[in-house]
Amino acid sequence: MIVNVPTPQALNDVALRLYFSAWSSLIYIRAHFDETFPPGEDPRPEKGDWAEEWSEYIQGYQPEFQAVCSVIQQSNELALKARICGVSPYLLLLNSNPKFSAIPGDIDFSELRTIDASDLPASVNSLCNKALSDDYVRTYNEIRSLRNKIAHLGHAGSNFEPDKLLEILVDQYIELWSDRAWLTDRVNFASRTGLAFFQDGKYTSAAAEVMYELPLILSAVKKSAFKKLFGIEKTTRRYLCHACVADASVRYHEVDPVRCRTAYLKDKSTLHCLMCSADYPVVREACGTDKCKGNVISRSEHAECDVCHSRGSEQSGRGGS
Ligand SMILES: [Zn+2]
Ligand SMILES: [Zn+2]
Repeated sequence: MIVNVPTPQALNDVALRLYFSAWSSLIYIRAHFDETFPPGEDPRPEKGDWAEEWSEYIQGYQPEFQAVCSVIQQSNELALKARICGVSPYLLLLNSNPKFSAIPGDIDFSELRTIDASDLPASVNSLCNKALSDDYVRTYNEIRSLRNKIAHLGHAGSNFEPDKLLEILVDQYIELWSDRAWLTDRVNFASRTGLAFFQDGKYTSAAAEVMYELPLILSAVKKSAFKKLFGIEKTTRRYLCHACVADASVRYHEVDPVRCRTAYLKDKSTLHCLMCSADYPVVREACGTDKCKGNVISRSEHAECDVCHSRGSEQSGRGGS
């Protein structure tokens, strides 16, 4: 019999792991630059005060970008295989021509040849009920041919821009995983990397890691893609989520109440958090703290009192509602 038959969940899970590995490599390239060359009035590194330094900096990263490009391609391939596998794992073997032996014994699925990468989009569109968009298939083929050049020649023959690769990743998620929550996935997969070994919840945590990159995430997602990725407009006012703020409050990460807003009002009295995907009932009362114009308050289990969702200030005289 055939053993080690893959499941769509397992294939999709690895696809997402690779996806977020590519994402965090790209975001950290920018984060490291910003630490030494803080963004000025124009936050775009290629247009701001440090344009020349940025250009020199990313030149040195070209080999890493090639590696990222290969990871993106692998993630795409596995996600498409997961879809086909969802119909039947044996469809993945359509192109294979296995040599069977008369001597009884198991056949390992992983040793059989599966559908070629170049045939995957057409296979998905023929075998699965949801077709891939033309834009996605075009980008898939571009990345695949770059990856092939890298594999055969050691270079892609073109310069990579991290912003362009991030844009590709945003579109990839919208196309492949529109039923999932991006920021929730980002945190979940951050807790499953090699670095997660250090996430003890006291010195560092997955939530802290993602909060740190949140401003870069939000600026990397263009206005037109924002609504599709997060379900809200880029200009929608955001608030602090008490639970995520607590998870991100660790020794190596100080929560900045302006940078760490992950929730929005889905109706007058309900906050939805993009990071933990939970809904929280809130009361609409003026924040009792000086200068804060916030009017979205709820009890925080972590502070054991009412806390303002705009700046995180504890509300004195209100024991809880
Ligand atoms: Zn949250
Ligand atoms: Zn306040």
